[in-house]
Amino acid sequence: MAIRLSSNCSNCAELTPAAECNVHKVKVNANYTCDSFALKNDLAVDRQCTSCTRHNTDSCAHPDKAAPGMLCSSWAPVA
Ligand code: SF4
Ligand code: SF4
Repeated sequence: MAIRLSSNCSNCAELTPAAECNVHKVKVNANYTCDSFALKNDLAVDRQCTSCTRHNTDSCAHPDKAAPGMLCSSWAPVA
């Protein structure tokens, strides 16, 4: 099973730089989420081998095919 980004406030497009939710108008943090969660576009489009923590390591599932723009179910975010 692939590790995925959390659907929490810290990865939500509605989070402002002041750590306030645009929808609920309250301070939030990574411990919260809601039904209005929307993944930030920059996170949504950046899932590829070059942003995978396994890239160029022994844990890469497809070392012969890994390349920019490629993705597999073993993708995991860099810590
Ligand atoms: S919309 Fe929901 S998930 Fe997004 S920041 Fe607000 S409370 Fe968090
Ligand atoms: S092939 Fe899969 S495991 Fe390897 S770097 Fe790409 S996404 Fe990560």
